[in-house]
Amino acid sequence: MKLLNFKQLLPIAQQRGFHAVGSFNLHCLEMLPAYFEAALDTNSPLMIQISTGTAEYLGRELLVSSIQSLAEKHDVPTCLHLDHCSNIDDIKKAIDSGFSSVMYDGSHLPLAENIANTNIVLDYARQFNVTVEAELGAIGGAEDGKAVAESDIAFTSVAEATQFVREADVDMLAVSIGTVHGSYTAKTNIQHQLLAEIHQAVDKSLVLHGGTGVSDEDMHYVIRHGMDKVNVGTEMNVQWVKHCQDTFSSGKVDDSVRKFFIPARKAVRAVIAEKMRLFQ
Ligand SMILES: [Zn+2]
Repeated sequence: MKLLNFKQLLPIAQQRGFHAVGSFNLHCLEMLPAYFEAALDTNSPLMIQISTGTAEYLGRELLVSSIQSLAEKHDVPTCLHLDHCSNIDDIKKAIDSGFSSVMYDGSHLPLAENIANTNIVLDYARQFNVTVEAELGAIGGAEDGKAVAESDIAFTSVAEATQFVREADVDMLAVSIGTVHGSYTAKTNIQHQLLAEIHQAVDKSLVLHGGTGVSDEDMHYVIRHGMDKVNVGTEMNVQWVKHCQDTFSSGKVDDSVRKFFIPARKAVRAVIAEKMRLFQ
């Protein structure tokens, strides 16, 4: 089974009763089986996203081949997406390695430059049937270690969003409507009216970044108002580290290291399944 792009994955999710596709960041390879277990637990298709840092750390070939083989073994429709990348060469490398979806993040650039670079990525990606996500507006918090100052957070404007999709025919558009990256404890303040206006003006799949800190009520609202893709990044990392801290500190050096990971893997499986059910 080939990896699917986002536009192929979304209708499968909808047929199975999901309002949105959750896109889950993978932080290390040991975590990977839990993602497929959660998809099987909930009969959900699976979207796994990789930061540029993790892609460099693990290697794109290892990621593509392991994810492809698990998708085939478990018969889970799967999309492999490159998360936030502002380097066009790195995006081309991911596409060449077999990623089925990519994000070009030019949100820090002036609008015209963001549009021009997004079009370069689109021209390349279209040759390989790879879907493209772009970002407009500045989402707060940290992404792949780089922090966005609170003063630099900028909500996406309806006018700019309209112009953006007219000039760059992307598949998905990430918008800034009040979520914060990596927000694990604080509750976020979703701009309902702004989302409704963008959704009405822009005929594209919208993407919610920083899904971890969003309340269940807000999540119900956003997936019914245009958010077709919801990113969940931090929560799996938190569960993994929390459980490994316990097992590693109480274990002995000659215990099988595998045993140290089992509670973390169970917790990651549970948290992904719980999020997937929230999108139903
Ligand atoms: Zn993001």
